[in-house]
Formats: sequence, C-alpha cells, structure tokens
Amino acid sequence: MAKVLVIGCGGVARVAIVKCCQNSEVFTDLMIASRTVSKCDALKEELQGKFKTNITTAQVDADNVEELTALIKSYAPDVVLNVALPYQDLTIMEACLAAGVDYVDTANYEPEDTDDPAWRAVYEKRCREEGFSAYFDYSWQWAYKKKFEDAGLTALLGCGFDPGVTQAYCAYAAKHEFDTIDTIDILDCNGGDHGYAFATNFNPEINLREVSAPGSYMENGRWVEIPAMSIKREYDFDQVGKKDMYLLHHEEIESLGKNFPDVKRIRFFMTFGQSYLDHMRCLEDVGMLSTTPINYNGQEIVPIQFLKALLPDPASLGPRTKGKTNIGCIFTGTKDGQPKTYYIYNVCDHQECYKEVGSQAISYTTGVPAMCGALMMLTGQWTKPGVYTVEEFNPDPFLDALDKYGLPRSENRAPALVD
Ligand code: NDP
Repeated sequence: MAKVLVIGCGGVARVAIVKCCQNSEVFTDLMIASRTVSKCDALKEELQGKFKTNITTAQVDADNVEELTALIKSYAPDVVLNVALPYQDLTIMEACLAAGVDYVDTANYEPEDTDDPAWRAVYEKRCREEGFSAYFDYSWQWAYKKKFEDAGLTALLGCGFDPGVTQAYCAYAAKHEFDTIDTIDILDCNGGDHGYAFATNFNPEINLREVSAPGSYMENGRWVEIPAMSIKREYDFDQVGKKDMYLLHHEEIESLGKNFPDVKRIRFFMTFGQSYLDHMRCLEDVGMLSTTPINYNGQEIVPIQFLKALLPDPASLGPRTKGKTNIGCIFTGTKDGQPKTYYIYNVCDHQECYKEVGSQAISYTTGVPAMCGALMMLTGQWTKPGVYTVEEFNPDPFLDALDKYGLPRSENRAPALVD
C-alpha cells in the first residue's frame, strides 16, 4: 500500500513505471509528473486497465523547487523517484526535504550549464584537490546528508544498474565472498545493435558528456586520470562474445573508494564499437558536444542540445535493437587465507525487454533497479536517515528483488581477469 511520485517520463521512467505496475500490491498509487505532460498521459492511457495501480499525471518543472514542493505536498507520496535528468537532482532533493518525503535517483548531480562561474569555481577546486575532471561528482548531493538526517528522511543515490546494481554486487562480494577485496573491475558491455551508424542508448547529452570526458580509476585511494579512451582491452563476455572496452571515469568509483577504502584498485570499463567512437570524435572535434551556447542567425543554440534533436530518440531504439548486455564486477582478493577471484554479472536481452515493457535493455537495466530501490525503501528494508549510495545497504533483499523482477545474477568463480 504505497504512493510513489515518479518525476520524468523518458526511457528509464517508462520501465520503472511498468515495473511498479507489475508489483501493484506494493505500488498501489503512482503519479507520473514531467515537463511534457502529454507523454505522462499517453503512458497512463497505455497502462491503466492492464494493471491495478491507480495512475495520475501532472505537469511539473522540476527545476522549480516551489512548484515541485507544492506538487509533492498535494500528492503526499511515500517516496519520490527521480528519473528526470541529473540536472534536477538538487532541486528535487530540496523539494523532498521541504515536503518531508524520501528520495531515490539513478545518476548523480551535474549542472546543465558548466560555464556558470559559481559552479566552475567549486568544480576547479575539486579537480585540483581530488584529481579527476568529470563534470559530475557526489559532493553536491552528499552535502545534503545532515539535512536528510535531521529530517529523518532517506535519500538513495544512483540506484540504476551502473551506478546502482554494480555497488550492490560489491556489497554482496564483501559480505559473502571475500575476507579482503584487492581489486574491483566493473565491466559494462552492450552487445546490442540498433542498425544506426550513430545513436546513444540513453539521453544523448548525458551519455556523450560521460564518454567524452577523460578516463580515471582509483589506485591506493587516489585518482589516476588518463586521456579519454586511452586504455583499451578486449574481453570475452558471456553470451555476447569478444568486445573492445575502454576505461572510463564512472560515478560509482567515487563512492566505492570511500566505502571500501582498503580496495587497492577500482576501474570501470565500457564497450564501444569503432563506428560510435569515430562519430563521437568527429562531433567533438567540430564542437557539437559543447554545452556553451552559440548565436546562429540571431538565435541562441546549445550545440549538444541541437545534436540531441538530430539523433534518434533513445526510446525509439527499442524495436530495432538486437543482442544482449552483460554488466557486472570482477573481484580479486582473499577468502580464508586463500587468493580468490569472483565475477558477478547480469545478462539482459534487448528484444526480450522490448517484448516485456516496450523498451531496450539500457532503459530496462536502469528502470528495474530504480523500482527495486523504491521497493526496498517502501518495505522498510533500506531506510536510514541521511544520504546514501547503494553499497551502504544490505545487498541481499535487493539482489533477490532483481532476480525476481527481471535482472537475475550470474556468477563465475574462475573468471578471465582484465590485465
Ligand atoms: P530521457 O531524456 O529519456 O528522459 C528524461 C525525462 O526527464 C523526460 O521525460 C524529460 O521531459 C524529463 N525532464 C527533463 N527536464 C525536466 C524538468 N526540468 N522538469 C520535469 N521533467 C524534466 O532520459 P533517460 O530516461 O534516458 O534517463 C533518465 C535518468 O536515468 C538520467 O538521469 C540518466 O542519467 C539516468 N540513467 C542512469 C543509468 C544507470 O545505470 N544508473 C543508465 C541510464 C540512464 P521531456 O519529455 O519534456 O524532455
């Protein structure tokens, strides 16, 4: 018997909402609120009648704390699920505090305008002090810890697949498989093919910013930064096959480094095809990934937003994408005094996802954990006042829920390691 307010109605939201509806004993009431209310209405139309969950919709600008607070107060949900964009994380957290409601999201805060001088001053200080230069980091949201503690509210950050499930895999490995963990390699493989020369699997602006940033990893508690795409490895993924993968900066390395300080090295790799990389490099070289507005024929245009308008909508890739994703973590360490290796991962099929919820696997692998994170909070298993990432909670009920709701784990106790 719970009421959830979902903010955003894009690719990830669709999956999270369908999954909530499939679990209507817990998710009895759902409000879908987003910038473009017609998308919320269309989804409501599609789902009501098929499921018992009572769905309502609303228009909201999640950049506006007052408007959002009024909406949250009037609907009075048990939890707010933020599946809008990372740009809205802070305003939605503010509104949750003002309205006294728990909060979940799937990606950490980054600003829409990276030229904003106030933000840039903090960013440049962080680059110097921490040693990584991605536009996103957890500091902005961790700064809310005391406010959430004082209000007796829980904020769960980054509860998608990666970040999200990958951290639950780390907590699980630490709890059940190892006495000490030496290294963690997070491997994100998308073996899907959508048939386009170039398209992104989730919001192009967020996706392209992430992959065009310098890579970095954590070694002995310190960041090591490398030029974008300069560390490449090949890996033979279960049910996908051999793929080239590249070391990227990724947000969960930051929280894992803090929560598992004894781990000597934490890296993140993602697979990319040559066509994707060639297009991205070219777009970057000509300035199309820039977030700085330019004036064109008297009109202000943000190049990356214009590019987004040209690219296929990630939501439209569902029917075209064939193949599988394989995302997981490889650990080395010791158990009972013996060296040990362990790999835990999930394989997800794009076409199966499309058949079930009308979306490709990238949205599916994010939307299912978002629902499961909300489920953990609503069932009282993951509530503690403050601001937390996934590895700070008991992984067992969460991984059981993922097994049940479409993202079952696989394990390998003698995996090939990444050199
Ligand atoms: P989409 O672009 O498909 O959807 C974003 C939604 O947010 C749209 O409905 C959009 O509205 C809405 N929105 C944007 N700005 C506002 C605003 N100011 N007020 C209200 N609503 C707004 O994105 P995705 O579904 O692909 O991604 C959603 C989130 O999931 C992102 O934060 C992304 O980073 C994260 N993600 C996390 C992953 C993980 O594994 N952890 C993996 C993939 C994504 P409109 O329709 O008007 O544009």
